[in-house]
Amino acid sequence: MAIQEETGPVLVTVFCDDCETTVTRDYIVPAGTDSLTVARRVMATQDGWMISARDDICAECFTLLEKNDPEAAAAIRATERTWDS
Ligand SMILES: [Zn+2]
Repeated sequence: MAIQEETGPVLVTVFCDDCETTVTRDYIVPAGTDSLTVARRVMATQDGWMISARDDICAECFTLLEKNDPEAAAAIRATERTWDS
């Protein structure tokens, strides 16, 4: 994981561990912040991705999982990352 030393747009790819779709965007990464953390926060709070302790799952995959396997979805949701700041 790359820790940014300077602010500025950084190209970051977030990868769905289920369907392997990727989303690559520019992010402003504050100094001392992990760029992937910044990207994951945006995906979770704006794009509906499930960012958990183990997996990053896109909105479509997680919606499907909740429908097809609610127990597995609940187990993942229990480890969902929180974004305090
Ligand atoms: Zn997916």
